[in-house]
Amino acid sequence: MADIRIHDKRFTPFITATEIEQRVRALAALINTDYAGKNPLLIGILNGSFIFAADLFRGLTIEAEISFIKLASYKGTSSSGHVVTAIGLEEELHGRHVIIVEDIIDTGKTLHSFLPGLQQRQPASVKIAAFLSKPGALQYDVRADYVAFEIANKFVVGYGLDYDGHGRNYPDLYRLKDADF
Ligand code: 5GP
Ligand code: MG
Repeated sequence: MADIRIHDKRFTPFITATEIEQRVRALAALINTDYAGKNPLLIGILNGSFIFAADLFRGLTIEAEISFIKLASYKGTSSSGHVVTAIGLEEELHGRHVIIVEDIIDTGKTLHSFLPGLQQRQPASVKIAAFLSKPGALQYDVRADYVAFEIANKFVVGYGLDYDGHGRNYPDLYRLKDADF
């Protein structure tokens, strides 16, 4: 596979579509086991998770539902000084088994700010499925329950993840070339 260029940066092949497919299938199999009979509600965080969420959801053979939200982040009056609200979350969450579907957990700030508001809606349980996590970048106490790949602290694109709006459509995952750091 060849390097790609997006805007001013070069990216090099990192994880192939075939490897991704295998890992996402494996996560779906775990969820099939863990959530049989529970009708989980998957909530995909837009935009980055849409491809991962679609593949994960297609791997489910149990009864399950899916919805998508956007997170809007602003400086608020909470103790953290950072509030994240969900746009488009219309489902009744009370008593539901919720699985948040994220593209990547980097510092963990986004989910750390969002989860308390979610808990206020009294779901029966909340777990997190992340396509990627960067343990080396984590700054908040957020742990994904299902992770396809733990990766080093490098910027990646493809499989739904973008660089300034572009690159989401690549079926493989690419990482920023070291030379461009
Ligand atoms: P966090 O709040 O965990 O620091 O950031 C999570 C968000 O940052 C992700 O949902 C994603 O939008 C963005 N992000 C973090 N790392 C990367 C990366 O390597 N590539 C891309 N494309 N986005 C990233
Ligand atoms: Mg995101």
